[in-house]
Amino acid sequence: MTLFDLPDFEGHEGVHSFYDEKTGLKSIIAIHSTARGPAAGGCRMWDYASSEAALTDALRLSRGMSYKNAMADLDFGGGKAVIIGDSRKQKTPELFEAFGRAVDSLGGSYWTAEDVGVSPADLESTRKTTRYVAGLEGHAAASGDPSPVTAEGVFRGVRLCVERALGRDLTGVKVAIQGVGHVGAYLAEKLHAAGAKLIIADVNQVALNEVAAKTGAEIVSTDAIFDVEADVFAPCALGGAISAATLPRLKVKVIAGGANNQLADAMIGQTVFDRGILYAPDYVINGGGIINVAAEIRALEAGGAFDPQWVATKLDRLALTLGEVLDQSLAEKRPANLVADEIARARIAAARS
Ligand code: NAD
Repeated sequence: MTLFDLPDFEGHEGVHSFYDEKTGLKSIIAIHSTARGPAAGGCRMWDYASSEAALTDALRLSRGMSYKNAMADLDFGGGKAVIIGDSRKQKTPELFEAFGRAVDSLGGSYWTAEDVGVSPADLESTRKTTRYVAGLEGHAAASGDPSPVTAEGVFRGVRLCVERALGRDLTGVKVAIQGVGHVGAYLAEKLHAAGAKLIIADVNQVALNEVAAKTGAEIVSTDAIFDVEADVFAPCALGGAISAATLPRLKVKVIAGGANNQLADAMIGQTVFDRGILYAPDYVINGGGIINVAAEIRALEAGGAFDPQWVATKLDRLALTLGEVLDQSLAEKRPANLVADEIARARIAAARS
């Protein structure tokens, strides 16, 4: 099978692979679309089982960024980078400088930022070799850690879904959070402050203890999180949380969380809908982080400072967009993920023409 025949290829404008002998960098940068502007999306470092797995991840994440940027009403296309390697063992400043050279060779058609396994400190190294990098700290345009903004968008999305599906506010609503890393931990604090009852799972015991101490959350195993009695399931770990194996176990009325690529495949969205579960499409509800990053790119390009008001306005608009997707899904009796895909594709096609 060639690249063009892969199910996830889906019209990518460019797929670039980079190898640097000196640092061992193995990276793939996938650019799905530049119709709305330069492709923007983070860089993930992960110990992929194979280069095929890395390619599939890059393609899915990159297409997701096109859709996410369109739904967040940003003048950016979609792209994503993956670095193949164990982020706990194989990171060096030189590796991220080599990655910066790879990004720079694309001449500004792709802007990078952080994602799972990549920190602002790593991107400081990348910045030495390319200017097409955002999500940094310590300069006037800097947007810093996007996770709090992502979590704020997800929190509003959970609240909206609970209003639609359960007709109530968050007081006493039980939310099961899978993954309490950056986004999950901020989300937990916001939900706790709004009166929700939390059940949390993570492979990281330290993170679990910290969140439980702050929020009174009940801790369960990473397997048991699918079986708990809860109103909302909030996937905030890695992709594929909702699958044919896990969906029948969920007892919730709402699935709304921060993770990318929550649905193991597009078909599962139909099953979610048929089971009467309200699903907030992942790339709509979690667009807060890229809005924050976009504010930095905007400021860098204009030579100005980061504008939190611009971010707040875009975040408000994103909440309205999520409401529109949910309304259309309910009115047309079609899965929300398909409705969101259609709107995103239409926005990209409109920009192309
Ligand atoms: P993170 O690495 O800080 O957190 C992920 C957490 O999930 C970690 O604590 C990890 O231990 C945990 N985890 C891993 N496997 C697990 C499992 N099987 N069960 C339960 N927990 C598990 O990453 P993050 O920045 O919080 O991002 C979380 C998700 O949200 C990712 O899918 C990411 O792509 C997505 N996302 C993040 C942002 C952002 O602003 N950080 C923006 C948009 C989307």
